[in-house]
Amino acid sequence: PLPSCECNSCYHGSDCSQFSSDCPADADSGDPLFLEPFWIKHAESGTMTVPGWHRMSYQFMYPQKSTLYSRELERHIRELHAMVGNANTTGKFMIFGAGSTQLLNAAIYALSPQDPPPITKIVASIPFYQLYKNQTDFFNSKSFKWGGDTSMWKHRSQSPEFNSTTNFIEFVTSPNNPDGKLKDHVLLESPDVKTIYDHAYYWPHYTAIPAPAKEDLMIFTLSKLTGHAGTRFGWALIKDEDVYKRFLDYMILSSLGVSRDCQLRSLKLLKVVLRNGKEFFEFGQKTTMTRWEKLNKTVSASKRFSLQKLVPQYSTYFRNITAPSPAYAWVKCEREEDEDCYEALLRDGGIIGRAGSTFHAENRYVRLSLIKSQDDFNWLLQRMDALVSQEQVHE
Ligand code: PMP
Repeated sequence: PLPSCECNSCYHGSDCSQFSSDCPADADSGDPLFLEPFWIKHAESGTMTVPGWHRMSYQFMYPQKSTLYSRELERHIRELHAMVGNANTTGKFMIFGAGSTQLLNAAIYALSPQDPPPITKIVASIPFYQLYKNQTDFFNSKSFKWGGDTSMWKHRSQSPEFNSTTNFIEFVTSPNNPDGKLKDHVLLESPDVKTIYDHAYYWPHYTAIPAPAKEDLMIFTLSKLTGHAGTRFGWALIKDEDVYKRFLDYMILSSLGVSRDCQLRSLKLLKVVLRNGKEFFEFGQKTTMTRWEKLNKTVSASKRFSLQKLVPQYSTYFRNITAPSPAYAWVKCEREEDEDCYEALLRDGGIIGRAGSTFHAENRYVRLSLIKSQDDFNWLLQRMDALVSQEQVHE
């Protein structure tokens, strides 16, 4: 057994097996471990062994740069979208990436006009996933810069910063991270506006699927689909051939494609999902829906906190009206004086979340992850219950 001084802060005892009740509930990261029980149940069919001699090659043949990608995996992804009904892949090119993180920046590169290079502003609607801005700032490109919230550019011809050589790329996250809402573009369609649809959460465990997505550039990730965030696999569906070619150039120059081992594992996992689709999505959706219901019940007794409003919707996948099942709770502190909801209330109450400012929203909002392990969720609920009960004692 480990000496107790080496236990992490949540456990104590000579073998670190005793849970400390002063441990905070960590609801920060979007690590989708809620799907782990499915993979434990399907341990055998999800297991892969790879001999040392297998797939050693770069597998890169000029001029067909697309040989970087497994056709077999591509075929299975198309089959999965058809089975779930969440995206129409007909006539679309496909590119793989190291998670959707790599593809998000590749997409900006592929959509930014080069000749002559006008400035492209990258925009998103608050609250938005912070990586869009962080990546744009980090790559510090000559041709694209962060442009802020879409509302600033909706009537752009009236803006003092606007000039006719400005182009726009709008990120649309649907369902949205952090608030789980289905979203559409805000900027009006025009030749100077391109849109990247981040559909990381457009799967039956997080949302009703009203119709197949069919936008010109869509990005998906294995991380939120199967829960294998560590495999680092995502894919983009692209309508335009020139945009696809620029995507390929980006992938070749930045990493010579995606690890073949990662493609093999992704294929193995997707085969299990395809074979057990009903069980997989029902398990995922039931878990997220139950967690959302429980948290709602607790928060509904509070005057200080509220949750985002989500409504039941018809899901073409389940062929039924489905209750909300978001990946995250977007908690709001209702009282005027609780401007810093996270620091002043939740963190003090032993809950670790992500402050609203991370999503460029007010700090009276906090994101809590509902997709971590069952233990993480149970502890979060207990902490939230305690906070709401305290409120009633003080009334
Ligand atoms: N897009 C959204 C909206 C996300 O929430 C995340 C992960 N939290 C990603 C993209 C990136 O995921 P990955 O790189 O694991 O595919």
